[in-house]
Amino acid sequence: MTTTAPKETLGFQSEVNQLLDLVINSLYSNREIFLRELISNASDAIEKLRFSALSDEALYEGDAAAGIEVDFDREARTVTLRDTGIGMTREDVIAQLGTIAKSGTKEFFGGLSGDARQDSQLIGQFGVGFYAAFIVADNVTVLSRRAGSAPDTGVRWESDGRGEFTVEACLRSRRGTEVILHLKEDAQEFADAYRLRALVKKYSDHIAVPIAMPAIAPPRDGEETPPARETVNSATALWVRSKQDIPDADYQSFYKHIAHDFEDPMTWVHTKSEGKLEYTTLFFIPARAPFDLFDREAQRGIKLYVQRVFIMDDAEQLLPRYLRFVRGVVDTRDLPLNVSRELLQRNKAIDTIRGASVKKILGLIETLAEGDDYAKFWQPFGRVLKEGIIEDAGNRERVAKLLRFASTQTDQAEPTTALEAYVARMKEGQKAIYFLTAETHATAKSSPHLEVFRARGIEVLLLCEPVDEWVVQQLTEFDGKPLRSVMQGKLELPGDEEPATPAAEVEDSALIAKLKQALEGKVSAVRPSTRLTDSPACLVGDDYDMSVNLQRILRAAGQEVPPARRILEVNERHPLLIRLATEEGEQRFADLAQMLFEQAVLVEGGRLDDPAAFVRRLNTFLTDVVA
Ligand code: ADP
Repeated sequence: MTTTAPKETLGFQSEVNQLLDLVINSLYSNREIFLRELISNASDAIEKLRFSALSDEALYEGDAAAGIEVDFDREARTVTLRDTGIGMTREDVIAQLGTIAKSGTKEFFGGLSGDARQDSQLIGQFGVGFYAAFIVADNVTVLSRRAGSAPDTGVRWESDGRGEFTVEACLRSRRGTEVILHLKEDAQEFADAYRLRALVKKYSDHIAVPIAMPAIAPPRDGEETPPARETVNSATALWVRSKQDIPDADYQSFYKHIAHDFEDPMTWVHTKSEGKLEYTTLFFIPARAPFDLFDREAQRGIKLYVQRVFIMDDAEQLLPRYLRFVRGVVDTRDLPLNVSRELLQRNKAIDTIRGASVKKILGLIETLAEGDDYAKFWQPFGRVLKEGIIEDAGNRERVAKLLRFASTQTDQAEPTTALEAYVARMKEGQKAIYFLTAETHATAKSSPHLEVFRARGIEVLLLCEPVDEWVVQQLTEFDGKPLRSVMQGKLELPGDEEPATPAAEVEDSALIAKLKQALEGKVSAVRPSTRLTDSPACLVGDDYDMSVNLQRILRAAGQEVPPARRILEVNERHPLLIRLATEEGEQRFADLAQMLFEQAVLVEGGRLDDPAAFVRRLNTFLTDVVA
């Protein structure tokens, strides 16, 4: 005998304890999903073995047959699952069934509300996997042996799900894993042939390996004894079947299996291509954002198969990052079975499949956009789709059509305006698509930069998400119309007359000249504004300056951004400016000029360099007023 480690008692990682608490408390009304989760794991383990055996046939130990068995014992109140998969070593068991290794786990638990109903929705997104066993069991035993290892390398894991588990060595003649659930008293309904079968049919029919259960059929004519077991699922990969033969319910349960989601998907697209390349794709858009959607490094949800053999999860070459919310399967004949991640990176077939897949998915989203419920898609995924403008130059125009923004047309914060709709509403002679970027919709909506646009009925898109700054840098035009910030450069609005003298040659009024002097070093220029109708002043940038909003975002992200000096535009018809023009007190003029500048900083959501000085100046004036 090899030296066998003694029985050890170990504690769960704290996140596992949290997950177990949640699973037990939040999923009670959804208890039956435990079986789907465990069958899913068993089928994954079988797929992993099939893949590893491609390069090492010995792993089959002379028996390549693949299958899952579901048994039960009513008296003992147990349900048992057995698989012929890859199995686990002692180290695997400790790591896989004692910790959660997913990225974003800490953030996920930090974000829970404590409300069982709300959290049970979230937990569905997170995926409970193996731990679902504890919804119905008060004690779980796992017996496993890694394929290709000696029988005495078997391992036995056991836990009541309350903080600790034990591991010890055991003999296992068969490779693979056996999970024994000791059902809670109120869960004994699951130790029942009909109930279990119904659950297998309902949730796991599409699983590509046979799931066998004790036979319940009476012996057929001519047979002495009934077969001990029979296969209860259809056991063919769902995507191989032809579309017409697949009811929605099957797509939905397949989605839940691959996405580890509890909810039905929003929509899906299933395509077979039989041209030069032969491949099948099945893509789903979830109904909600996965919990780690904004983690750009998070696992991607596409599984790659070669001729039905599972090759890998998270094959990042299959879809660009901005479609990382899509879940699904790609199966092709045109890759070698031993394809590696490295090989995928420069593979022509993969490039073609990827290109076609992106087009399929964009087509699916276009269909959603034509319907009435596009907000259901846009709300969770719009922010990510916008990254497509930056990431996917080849499909930029198509992605651009799918974008939605808030706009002065509705003045609502909900982004419902499409660029095409904007263009259709453009005023005669309007040359550009105007937008304004700001930190919040409230700041954007009341920006003085919009005044002339409102006065002339010209629509402005209000962009309030950080990613928008990058979107407008890449998307410089749409439908032949340039995108222009209302906060930058000189405006050329429809109906404006060409100035007789070029702006540079117009002499400054005395007021402008005095303001320039007073604000020397604070602004790069002072000029009369064509943007303002109600406000006294605003700040603008030059055409190619970085917007203040972007500067703010970059600073918040810890980057150094040199402060850019901006142009102060003033409304010479405003009473404050008229008053200023006649101000004779030098200090008073300087203070008023300074405040004019400071309020322009404040209205665009900026920060003052010296707020205390601003308040002091303001109070001096207020004291005058109330005196
Ligand atoms: P997930 O399946 O989402 O990774 P689980 O909690 O369900 O999370 O399982 C954790 C890990 O335990 C799996 O990734 C796998 O490595 C291992 N595992 C679970 N069930 C089995 C099984 N039947 N055979 C082999 N390994 C398994």
